[in-house]
Amino acid sequence: MRVDGACHCGAITVEGEADAEKVVICHCTDCQTGTGTAFRVSVPVPGATFKITGRPSVYLKTTADSGNPRAQAFCPQCGSPIYSTTPGDGPQQWYIVRVGILRQRDRLAPRQQIWCRSARPWLAELGSVPGNATQ
Ligand SMILES: [Zn+2]
Ligand SMILES: [Zn+2]
Repeated sequence: MRVDGACHCGAITVEGEADAEKVVICHCTDCQTGTGTAFRVSVPVPGATFKITGRPSVYLKTTADSGNPRAQAFCPQCGSPIYSTTPGDGPQQWYIVRVGILRQRDRLAPRQQIWCRSARPWLAELGSVPGNATQ
């Protein structure tokens, strides 16, 4: 699926060909801290199709929950998470783009959840929490 989007302040834009069948929710504690919320929703975009404008800041987490070092890119102005990828210079093979910054996010429904052992225990009851359409 062709996707495009921008960070909250608009300094960074991305586009690419996302694999909509591989949208994943990650419940790992790194993602909880890195997003400031309960979980992260991401979709892989091949490096060959990935385009970015603006210059993200990159935080290199060397001891991720997975054990693999990950480069976490975010907007230096507004702090929006943009993607993670393998560390290194130049284009990488895959960019794991944050679904919340994409215009097509309504159509990028999660297909898998990972690191469920650290999922917030109240997520299962979220459907019964009272909600409003606004606010
Ligand atoms: Zn921004
Ligand atoms: Zn995670």
